[in-house]
Amino acid sequence: MEIIYNKVFLEHDTGMHPENKKRLKCFGKLKETKIESGEKYLSLIHDKNYVQQVKEACNKEEYLDPDTYVSKGSWNTALMAVGATIAASEKNGFALVRPPGHHAHPGRSSGFCIFNNLAISVQRLVNKGKKVLIFDFDGHLGDGTMDIFYDTNKVMYFSLHQYPAFPNKGWMDELGEGKGKGYTINVPLPAGTGDDLYFDAIDRVTPYLKRFNADVVALSAGFDAYLGDLLLDLKLSFNAYYNLGKLLRENFKNMYATFEGGYNTEALPFCVFSFLEGINGEKQRFSEKSTKSSLDTRKEYDKRIKELEKNLKKCCKI
Ligand SMILES: [Zn+2]
Repeated sequence: MEIIYNKVFLEHDTGMHPENKKRLKCFGKLKETKIESGEKYLSLIHDKNYVQQVKEACNKEEYLDPDTYVSKGSWNTALMAVGATIAASEKNGFALVRPPGHHAHPGRSSGFCIFNNLAISVQRLVNKGKKVLIFDFDGHLGDGTMDIFYDTNKVMYFSLHQYPAFPNKGWMDELGEGKGKGYTINVPLPAGTGDDLYFDAIDRVTPYLKRFNADVVALSAGFDAYLGDLLLDLKLSFNAYYNLGKLLRENFKNMYATFEGGYNTEALPFCVFSFLEGINGEKQRFSEKSTKSSLDTRKEYDKRIKELEKNLKKCCKI
């Protein structure tokens, strides 16, 4: 899995906002890839009126919602983020983009996200007859993505995220609806969750993900579950990201990824490079002591995971 990057992603200028260009500058010099605009794909997910509203807001340089600011350069940058994610889906790449996308809904921005890069690329694959598993390991629930595919059995959405935390959704009983019932799986993790419980959750859910037998696995790759992140209180180490990449490599084929959150710019390159080394079957360069959850965290986690397993046994048809 190779990085797809272009310095156009620095042109979404948000000033001192936590989602700012330092999040990519911190990677140092990266090889650049020529990227095409994703404008023609927006209508796969987004309403026409909303797209027009974003364009106008970028010209005026204003807030699209209380969390999401746009500047003049944001319009083109957001289209390129969609284009890079489509390119990643074509060549099993890792689109290292901003702005992120997984909170964006068809008709509104949310949580620093303008267009839902991953959902657009997934819908394109579904329209080509593919079955897609979305594995969202950002520390927040990708509520935009979850809602978009909530009633379909062509896409399985899986998220591990801190709860309570923005957007305060993604409980164990949110399992999809209609044909999509059993095709959404949420693991709401208590604050303080470390590597131990994180992988316990993945081990318990992986059999369901594998039985879905996806043609393609789309990764919403956020790194704000890292122990030193500024926005969340999860405690993953660099080792966890390496091991997550390794686990995905061992269990799934035909994967691609797009970058979501991650706000500790000192640690971010280590998290992303560790993940890529894991998924590419390379040696781990940056080791860090694996983290353990406290007894209280484990108690709360146990309650939640048992409830989720009960729900999945009841409603998951695969
Ligand atoms: Zn996040």
